[in-house]
Amino acid sequence: MTAVDAQTVVVGAGAIGSATAYWLAERGQKDVLVVEQYDLGHGNGASQDHSRAIRHSYHDNAYGRLTQAAFDNWDRLVAESGQQVLLRTGGVEIGLKGTEGEEMIARYRKVLDDQGHAYERWDNARLAERYPQWRIDEPADVTYSRDMGLVDIGKAGQTHRALAAALGVTFRPRTRAVRVESLADAVRVHTADGGSVVARHVVVAAGAWSDDILAEVGQTWRTTISQEQVAYFVPRVLRDFTPEAFPVWGWYGPTLFYGFPVYGEVAVKIARDMSGRFVTHETRSMEPVAEETELLEAFLRERLPDAAGFELYSKTCIYDMPPDRNFVIDAMPGHPRVVVGVGAGHAAKFAGLFGEILSQLVVEGRSQHPIEAFAADRPALTDPSFRPVFGL
Ligand SMILES: Cc1cc2nc3c(=O)[nH]c(=O)nc-3n(C[C@H](O)[C@H](O)[C@H](O)COP(=O)(O)OP(=O)(O)OC[C@H]3O[C@@H](n4cnc5c(N)ncnc54)[C@H](O)[C@@H]3O)c2cc1C
Repeated sequence: MTAVDAQTVVVGAGAIGSATAYWLAERGQKDVLVVEQYDLGHGNGASQDHSRAIRHSYHDNAYGRLTQAAFDNWDRLVAESGQQVLLRTGGVEIGLKGTEGEEMIARYRKVLDDQGHAYERWDNARLAERYPQWRIDEPADVTYSRDMGLVDIGKAGQTHRALAAALGVTFRPRTRAVRVESLADAVRVHTADGGSVVARHVVVAAGAWSDDILAEVGQTWRTTISQEQVAYFVPRVLRDFTPEAFPVWGWYGPTLFYGFPVYGEVAVKIARDMSGRFVTHETRSMEPVAEETELLEAFLRERLPDAAGFELYSKTCIYDMPPDRNFVIDAMPGHPRVVVGVGAGHAAKFAGLFGEILSQLVVEGRSQHPIEAFAADRPALTDPSFRPVFGL
């Protein structure tokens, strides 16, 4: 048997890699090494911000079947660490009647029904009564969910890393993995400094950089990277946008806008999903695009005028999207010791659960959670003629 330097190497200390490291140690692995190309908690990836939306409503039951376990996983982390990484602020999802938004709301509500999650169906009057901050004259269809809220994704990553380190996990920042090589009964992870580490398993949680690592170990798909942007605005009426007074929200339509009450900054946050700005690591910019912030501000002015004070700042971020924008949670075909987790630009709410499942795939070779839909050899990933779809 090949001698190893570590039981498992995790490539990437973002939300998913950090959770995986914690859960591997929680499962008794004493020798876990996490390599991260940047500093821990850096802002170049997808996991460095104050808030990410979490909800039970989804466009497909493949995700709906996992949301309760995701909430339970976060509740367990809060109990374990004393860190408040999950806030159930309540949430509203709004679609204007007679528009694409109404169809989307209905599709998301079907998953709530199928999975037996409670919600309320509101009209304009009920919305105005509970959340008078909204300006909507057109007839709207609204779903209110008590459990909807936010995950503090930056704090969640820090918390998983703190608990993992306390359980003996080693984090090696500023160490870039450049190649993963499958051996007979182990894997070798080559690093940019010319070194390498041999382990029984490797978990690749490299987000938008996954293609750089997976190409040699059975990857058949290409990851599309889109540059996304969020904006923080200081509300004109601050107390009306506290988490007690204002929910996490989604506005469904041709453009999917979403936002958060005042959290992390003395400002509300707004963004839209899937800007369509496709980039590479070379063309990706950390400089916010003014037109994008203007678009978000215009939405606030029209729909939440009291939130539309001055811009505090905007920041960019990146989605890592397989061709069907579904997760990849699996061992690589033909490389059973190479386990991969890809969040497809909507996995923060599931990051803790991702870690739990990926650790199960490493330690037990299987998971009790329903992840068949996220197989690495599904047609959308193996069929070169598959036409990419990135809507949620
Ligand atoms: C603007 C925006 C809004 C979002 N909103 C939501 C939301 O509301 N709800 C939700 O659920 N999700 C949301 N998401 C998605 C969510 O944030 C991501 O799915 C999640 O953070 C992905 O985590 P990750 O660990 O896979 O990726 P990352 O955080 O990008 O981590 C990958 C890590 O791997 C490291 N790495 C890569 N290659 C190497 C290498 N070769 N060697 C060493 N290290 C390497 C990188 O440096 C990075 O730290 C949003 C994403 C964005 C961008």
